[in-house]
Amino acid sequence: MKILLIEDEPSVSSFIKRGLEEHGFEVQQAFDGDTGFRLARQGLFGLIILDLILPHKNGMEVCRELREEGHKDVPILMLTALSTTSDLVAGLEAGADDYLRKPFKFQELLARIQALSRRRQIMPNNRKLRVANLEMDLDGKTVTRNGKEITLTAKEFNLLEYFIRNKGRVISRNTILEQVWELDFDTGTNVVDVYVNYLRKKVDKGFSPKLIHTVIGMGYVVKEN
Ligand code: CA
Repeated sequence: MKILLIEDEPSVSSFIKRGLEEHGFEVQQAFDGDTGFRLARQGLFGLIILDLILPHKNGMEVCRELREEGHKDVPILMLTALSTTSDLVAGLEAGADDYLRKPFKFQELLARIQALSRRRQIMPNNRKLRVANLEMDLDGKTVTRNGKEITLTAKEFNLLEYFIRNKGRVISRNTILEQVWELDFDTGTNVVDVYVNYLRKKVDKGFSPKLIHTVIGMGYVVKEN
């Protein structure tokens, strides 16, 4: 499982990262709220560990904005040095699933993570994404439409996953570059359009309804009609 760790204190971050890696997790670090939020929006993580007090955007804001954007499935474990009941309630209201008070022992953190990921596993279909008659299996890395298997490259798969996780939202080319290619500048190339066309040929051509729509002057949206 891939974990996103948003924690600004380098020593705490590396302590957590080292421990989790020893337990077989893959860990991506972010050291401020903005970067953490940007990474979290990719929707590629199985769990997010989120410190409350962060530069640029605090943990509460990151959490609330992610949930508001529709990233509701990913468990969020909040870390907090604050410990009044009202702080904790506010964190949970912002959409966190659990919290851990600092300082903590690594074993406590691990126990919380295991509990949260168990809870996630029993949720039905959480590793499958669907739009109309298209289904993506995120574990098996397969895509089917009407039960017919479609072969995608890794990049096409990531792009389709990003589109489906943001179903109904119009997404600009720059956002796609940023989120799927992890480029935060305009390359001046039409790489996004090229890949969207590849995807269309594989995913939409010969099937109904069409799922990938162009919104002129704005970008793309995946929707059922
Ligand atoms: Ca902090």
